[in-house]
Amino acid sequence: MLTQQEQLRYSRQIMLKSIGEDGQIALRNAKVLIVGMGGLGNPVSLYLAAAGIGTLLIADGDKVDVTNLQRQVLFTEHDIDESKADIAAEKLQLNNSDVTIEVIDEMLDDELCDFYIPTVDVVIDCTDNIQTRYMLNTHCVNNKIPLVVGAATGFDGQQLVVDPRNDESACYHCLFPESKKAPVNNCQTVGILGPILAIVAGMQSLQTIKLLTGNKVHVNQLNLFDGLSNQWQQFTIKKQANCKVCGS
Ligand SMILES: [Zn+2]
Repeated sequence: MLTQQEQLRYSRQIMLKSIGEDGQIALRNAKVLIVGMGGLGNPVSLYLAAAGIGTLLIADGDKVDVTNLQRQVLFTEHDIDESKADIAAEKLQLNNSDVTIEVIDEMLDDELCDFYIPTVDVVIDCTDNIQTRYMLNTHCVNNKIPLVVGAATGFDGQQLVVDPRNDESACYHCLFPESKKAPVNNCQTVGILGPILAIVAGMQSLQTIKLLTGNKVHVNQLNLFDGLSNQWQQFTIKKQANCKVCGS
């Protein structure tokens, strides 16, 4: 049951048939790990806290830098040199005091993944580090936890859901086997425009809410956004039988 306060607070999304009171209760019961509190993690965590996700684990080992402020909208000039995860937690808590926020103020490694990933309902990849992305993919596949991948550089965005609970779902490694090397461009090398991150982060937040509320989420669908032509393109990808992460 939702309290009267919750019914009021979340009324605009509860009135949606595909969410409803059951969906809101599912969000309240959910635990989500957001890896990376940068340009994607900032808006993703804010939308999910605002939507009433019960527990958010936010992981980042970096400190706020002046070059982050152009796109990492939770941070202000006062936050420079402070821990990103700590500052983000403070801001998110101001938005929604009902949400439980757990701070992991270090870069995830295999040991931390082993510890945290089996305890959550969804993992959201908001990093710009390809090795971390492969690591999250492997742990999510092994633990059958859905992974919502997002990436952006320049004017381009990329989004993919891996759902290992579904036997047909391709994983990130099926898409980019390590031998073929996934794109290594990042914000430092090629630049990024803030609103592109907002668009990808919006998509990641939406996919997460749909996953948690039992709405259909397309797996094997690579969504690519081109910010210059304003176009989304969907590509169908396939699970690779010989994938060394998810193959049999
Ligand atoms: Zn795979």
